[in-house]
This record gives sequence, C-alpha cells and structure tokens, in this order.
Amino acid sequence: MFDINSYHKANSVDEAIALLSQNPDAIPMAGGTDILVRLHGHNKKFSHLVDIHNVIELQNVTIENDGTIVIGSGMTFTGLAHSSVIRENIPVLNEGGSSVGGPQVRNVATVGGNICNGAPSGDSASPLLVLNATVELKGPDGVRHLPLYEFYQGPGQVDRKDGEIMTCLRIAPGDYKGWSAYYYKYAMREAMDIATIGCAAACKVENGKIAGLRLGFTVAGPTPLRCWRTEEKASGMGANEELLDMVENSVLSDLRPRDSWRAAKDFREQIIKTLAKRVLREALKRNTEME
Ligand SMILES: Cc1cc2nc3c(=O)[nH]c(=O)nc-3n(C[C@H](O)[C@H](O)[C@H](O)COP(=O)(O)OP(=O)(O)OC[C@H]3O[C@@H](n4cnc5c(N)ncnc54)[C@H](O)[C@@H]3O)c2cc1C
Repeated sequence: MFDINSYHKANSVDEAIALLSQNPDAIPMAGGTDILVRLHGHNKKFSHLVDIHNVIELQNVTIENDGTIVIGSGMTFTGLAHSSVIRENIPVLNEGGSSVGGPQVRNVATVGGNICNGAPSGDSASPLLVLNATVELKGPDGVRHLPLYEFYQGPGQVDRKDGEIMTCLRIAPGDYKGWSAYYYKYAMREAMDIATIGCAAACKVENGKIAGLRLGFTVAGPTPLRCWRTEEKASGMGANEELLDMVENSVLSDLRPRDSWRAAKDFREQIIKTLAKRVLREALKRNTEME
C-alpha cells in the first residue's frame, strides 16, 4: 500500500541525526499522520524515513528555572492537552491543538510535525506565533534557535537543514506571563476539517492601554503570518472599541489570502476581519479577568 523505500528507527536525537546524515534522501517521521497521507498519494519525497516516534527525549513539556516553557517536538496534541504546564500557562496552544483532526489523529499527531510540515493551515501555528515561540533544531553542525516566523519559508517549506531534527519549541516568560490569548478556527464543518481561517490573538494591558498585542493567522497567506503593522498601530491605544475597529480595518494590510477550492479570497477577507475583532475581544476579556 505504501511505497516506502527505506525505513530506519531512531531511539535518540543523536541517532536520528546520524541516520539522517547517512541517508541524505530520508526525512524524519514523528506521528506519520501527514507523511502516510503523502505516501498514499505515491509522493516519492516521503519514501525514505527515519522514524523518531519513539524518541522519548522529544516527548516532554518542562519549565526552566527562569520560566521558559520548553515543548518537546514529539509531544502529541493529546499529550499537550494533559500537560498541566500548558493548561495553566498557555491554554491558547490547546485551543489550537484540540481542533486538530479527531481524537485518533491527536493521539499520534505531534506539534513538531504540525510545524515542520510547513502547512499554512497548521492549527498550532498561530497560537505559537502569538506566543513568540522560538524553534530549536539540532543537526550535524550543532544547535540552532530561530523565531517561528522565520522558520516558515513558503507553502510546505521550512528552514530545516539536511540532517536536522526540530527538538523543541521554547516560549520565554516575558512572552506569556501577564499576557492573555485566544485562538479560534473557522472551518466549513464543525466536525473534523482543515481551517478556512485560523486566528490567534495575544494581548497585554497596562492601565487600560495596550502594552503588547500580537495577531497570528493561518490560511491567510503562503505561510502562517503575524500582523506586524496592525500590532504596531495598536501599541499604546486604549483597550476599547476604537482599538477593535482599528484592528478590523487594518488587518488585511498584513495578510495575503487567496482563492482556493475551500473558499474564495473575498470570503476569506470577510472572515479575517470578523475574526480579528472577535478573537481580540475575547483575548482582552481574559486579560481583564486576570487583573
Ligand atoms: C484525518 C486527518 C485530519 C487532520 N486534521 C488536521 C487539522 O484539523 N489541523 C491540522 O493542523 N492538521 C491536521 N492534520 C494534519 C496532521 O495530522 C498534523 O499536521 C500533525 O500535527 C502532523 O504531525 P505528525 O507528527 O503526524 O507529522 P509527520 O507526518 O510525522 O511529519 C510531518 C512533516 O514534519 C516533519 N517532521 C516531523 N517531526 C519533525 C521533527 N521533530 N523535526 C523535523 N521534521 C519533522 C516530517 O519530516 C514531515 O515532513 C490532519 C491529518 C489527518 C490524517
């Protein structure tokens, strides 16, 4: 059924890197929920595999002494939903994760695979973008860190060099403490479906004014995107209706939605404007509740 040309199983990150280096055509396979669909479609790019599904060191969520949250790339979405670190500190990631597929998919699909597949629709992408997550990659030349928004390079393309494994995602304490956030996935069906548009907002309010605002969208461009211009305009504004109107009117200047069989561009634009306002309103409400 599957045209698998070579298969190697790794038991550690170092072994996976060595196997990838020895097999230059091979790619890492975590949960396999994307890869097996591609193989089913006879896509040869996915036919040499290094299986990292059993690499335990990738399957942890921890908090370092300075408050940095470290999410192993091999964490499944079900695992994230059970993590008290995620639930108590960055529940917005579970709002994204719990909307991935159905329970069977979430039991094996990993957050690392959801990011490394480079899909513009990945449900963990916009929550992680508004948490300012950085990506950690380990390969034959050592360890690299880069912001998630730089990791995305185009549809289905990420900055993973030959032989590299994404080991974890890191979220600094200043990027979640005092912030509140919310994610909403607009899809055509309430049951299992890929997002038509996904939107996450994170905000920090001090003395009624915006001390920080971040907006992240999926399926609104060739990669998951942050809304840099709108975020900058919001800085220092009151946390009020004027802010929400500004965001609604500005957000399209940051994004590049397009027509697809799933939805027309002008329909997507309408959803983007509506979601920007609604999702930010909910994030602001949560911030007020925190004060
Ligand atoms: C029925 C079904 C429904 C789905 N619904 C959704 C949905 O609603 N929302 C959504 O976002 N996605 C959905 N998906 C897509 C998929 O389940 C997710 O993208 C999932 O998170 C991929 O993770 P994985 O571990 O299975 O990745 P894999 O299939 O193992 O790998 C995906 C890609 O990432 C690379 N990769 C994986 N781990 C690493 C790593 N640690 N380092 C470097 N590269 C790595 C692989 O080489 C491959 O290119 C669905 C899939 C199916 C089959």
